[in-house]
Amino acid sequence: MITTTPMLDIKKIRKDFPNLDVTVHGKPLVYLDNAATTFKPQCVVDAVEQHYSQGASNVHRGVHYLSEKATEDFEGARRKVQNFIHAKHPSEIIFTRGTTESINLVVQSYGRAFLKEGDEIIITEMEHHSNIVPWQMLCEEKGCALKVVPFNEDAELIWEEFEKVLGPKTKFVSVVHISNSLGTINPIAKIIKAARQYDVPVLVDAAQSISHAPIDVQALDCDFLAFSGHKLFGPTGIGVLYGKTDLLEKMPPVQGGGDMIASVTFEKTTYNVLPYKFEAGTPHVAGVIGLGAAVDYVKSIGFDAIGEYKKDLLDYGTQVLQAVPGLRLIGTAKEKTSVLSFVLEGIHPHDIGTIVSDEGVAIRTGHHCTQPVMKHFKVPATSRASLTFYNTKEELDALVKAIEKVKDVFK
Ligand code: PLP
Repeated sequence: MITTTPMLDIKKIRKDFPNLDVTVHGKPLVYLDNAATTFKPQCVVDAVEQHYSQGASNVHRGVHYLSEKATEDFEGARRKVQNFIHAKHPSEIIFTRGTTESINLVVQSYGRAFLKEGDEIIITEMEHHSNIVPWQMLCEEKGCALKVVPFNEDAELIWEEFEKVLGPKTKFVSVVHISNSLGTINPIAKIIKAARQYDVPVLVDAAQSISHAPIDVQALDCDFLAFSGHKLFGPTGIGVLYGKTDLLEKMPPVQGGGDMIASVTFEKTTYNVLPYKFEAGTPHVAGVIGLGAAVDYVKSIGFDAIGEYKKDLLDYGTQVLQAVPGLRLIGTAKEKTSVLSFVLEGIHPHDIGTIVSDEGVAIRTGHHCTQPVMKHFKVPATSRASLTFYNTKEELDALVKAIEKVKDVFK
């Protein structure tokens, strides 16, 4: 059998992203903050612009040409997302504002309707706040208990601890697939399989993983999956909740209004079919169309090539950062993606972020909405470089050079 190595033409790919040409303080921008948000390829910008300049219209409501066209594009994008994550039906794709809203939808709908006092919800120590706080709010209201699976010093979940908390009282499992502050890739398939013993729904926070590798929700057998368009090279303000039909069918809507109803009288309202039951009001039409274009773009590059390239970049970044005296990497899991969180002895991350920004390098500093992770490592914050397929080794060299500058300043 002949195997070929998929290659990326990075020069060509970089031309697709106009934002990469920006200069900062007179220096070429080095954008290493992709876990926060990704840049948009020109085709996404064009799709959004095209909708607003040539096709602006509301969806599902009009019989005039533009409304029909907008509806066609909108529902076409839903099918693109369906195919992208291999959902069984387009109606299992619910458009939200992002991962945060998707998780909140499940908590407010499924959680409030089906969880009760004494029930236990399992999350992990490395969750983003958006997969902690909504559950805490529910626990407070309902008297449920949150069970947190800890991780070890390499930032890998401790499987035995998961097995310890999983039991007959467990009524929901909600887990991050890839940690945004550590890069750890969690064994999500194994977690779902284990949860099945107790017939417990599992939600996967795919905010980071959606742009990392192909996700097949049917093969994974997850019950819910949440992600944001803006971390997948799409627009901000648009996201997705995938849910299995049988669960979504029995869940009550969270917001009432236009589009989510079948009929309304003052005596009684009946609800629309899926997915509209969960999409009250005018949706983010341009955002959905832009997300569809982003999905097309990622597919055109291909996850095989993306994965291979990012692995190489991560290995290189790990190597050059580890060589910096006084620098400690936070998050050293065997299975990890291209997130490089670090601390520098004696220098606060905010100072690092500010000084490297003067050199044109954009990294994120802070707790990354994962304060429990910071607590675990006994640090107030970290600096984080997060890479994607348009980044280069030269950009990592620029980061190291900027870090040397930081060290000079604090000498
Ligand atoms: N979950 C993870 C792992 C994230 O990285 C993020 C954002 O950084 C979120 C959830 C929240 O995403 P959003 O702010 O787009 O809703």
